[in-house]
Amino acid sequence: MLNAVEALTRLREGNRRFVTDQSSTAALSNSARREALVGGQEPCAIILGCSDSRVPAELVFDQSFGDLFVIRVAGNIVAPSQVGSVEFAASRFGTRLVVVMGHTQCGAILATLEQLQGSATNQSRNLRSIVDRVRPSVETLLSSRRPQDMDSLVRDAVRANVRASVNHLRHGSELLEKLIHETGLLVVGAEYSLETGIVDFFENVPESAQQGLFGAAELRN
Ligand SMILES: [Zn+2]
Repeated sequence: MLNAVEALTRLREGNRRFVTDQSSTAALSNSARREALVGGQEPCAIILGCSDSRVPAELVFDQSFGDLFVIRVAGNIVAPSQVGSVEFAASRFGTRLVVVMGHTQCGAILATLEQLQGSATNQSRNLRSIVDRVRPSVETLLSSRRPQDMDSLVRDAVRANVRASVNHLRHGSELLEKLIHETGLLVVGAEYSLETGIVDFFENVPESAQQGLFGAAELRN
């Protein structure tokens, strides 16, 4: 199993191939690979991403069958079932990297901003449960902005929402906290750009990871 830094390097390299139209793992998506994985899996990374059809994790990281354990939910929010899914993969498969990946122009973020600005149409209770999880992290941004700053507001809100999900995973689970301290499990935020295809990894590396496997500088790209 790759450690967190090796897994991060692998995702970065895959994204670089994707961005430069040199994706190579499509050839691995065949019946032989599928059959080889029937007996078990060792995904190198857990990705919590948005359901948006334009952000398929395997494609943007140029990975294949069995490479990524992917959780997708609108707005890449963290509710108990997402925490449970990450706990499951990290403890069952020994995966050491968790990436929370938001993306530019996220509809869930826009819906939340519209609701906070009072321009949202009636949302169902179910949709509201997503918006309610996004809201706290973006609420404070609103108070300091002029309304015409919408583009930068959305940009900052996307990143604030990713950071909130990262914090929730780092501190909202005893099991994950234990894995972070004892095994070097790393939870990082990232943003995918619909415009460029580039995944920008955030630099907010937890202390324990800095002291353990690697220096923070290695995470800057
Ligand atoms: Zn989205």
